[in-house]
Amino acid sequence: MPPPVFRFAPSPNGYLHLGHAYSALLNADLARQAGGRLLLRIEDIDATRCRPEFEAAIYEDLRWLGMVWEMPVRRQSEHFASYRAALDRLAAKGLIYPSFESRAEIARMVTEREARAAWSRDPDGAPLYPGTAKELPAREREALMASGVPYALRLDMAAALAIAGDFDWREEGDGPGGETGLVVARPEAWGDVILARKDTPASYHLAVVVDDALQGITDVVRGQDLFWATSVHRLLQRLLDLPAPRYRHHALLRDAAGAKLSKSTRATGLRELWAEGVSPAEVRRRIGL
Ligand code: GLU
Repeated sequence: MPPPVFRFAPSPNGYLHLGHAYSALLNADLARQAGGRLLLRIEDIDATRCRPEFEAAIYEDLRWLGMVWEMPVRRQSEHFASYRAALDRLAAKGLIYPSFESRAEIARMVTEREARAAWSRDPDGAPLYPGTAKELPAREREALMASGVPYALRLDMAAALAIAGDFDWREEGDGPGGETGLVVARPEAWGDVILARKDTPASYHLAVVVDDALQGITDVVRGQDLFWATSVHRLLQRLLDLPAPRYRHHALLRDAAGAKLSKSTRATGLRELWAEGVSPAEVRRRIGL
């Protein structure tokens, strides 16, 4: 049996905090206990939010914590062609369509619909896309794309589900409602998710699924905030014939007031703790590892 492969996959859009330390060190501990490998992946697709100084700080902070990972590190911004190829495969199955509405237009469409009846929200609380662009005639669609306006490339969820059928995933941690063991995937809860944009070759969902497969990840260990995103990831794995890793979602660390830790709260930032003279062993103690 080849050794299990774990990964920690931060986005360099801010400095790491105690919650990241928990995720990173949990991955490292589980990899060590299983005699497995540990990879680090930099999820830097969103060029508007990711910055080189945050990436440099990730390496520094993780080294300070004593984490050791395999080289080279995979940086998503260097692999756009892989994501494009996956998107093309989905498009060839007729599962991708462009939508041209701005966020404000979508919000207005949803408000209109909500005035008539309840409108579903996704597991993160955002209203579902009403699917209007799916009805555009092909000629109009092509003309709009050629005109240079921005657009998002969406998964036709109904068509995708007709191909993929029902499926589940193996959860070794638990979900926000205590879900564990074999969890039935509910990708329809996300509606027609965005998989790429005119100027961005992949969304988080697409890139994470392509990379986990390309890197042979057997064990995905990450925060519970991504628990229901796993439904979309499993769907994409089925549509693209990719293997399903095991998943272990962990509870999110909270501050003294019970709020989720954020990249902008200085009190729990690893750089701040380091500067205050807190030791990596003390960090482990504070996060309960
Ligand atoms: N890059 C994501 C984040 O920083 C995590 C992705 C994952 O672990 O699947 O929230």
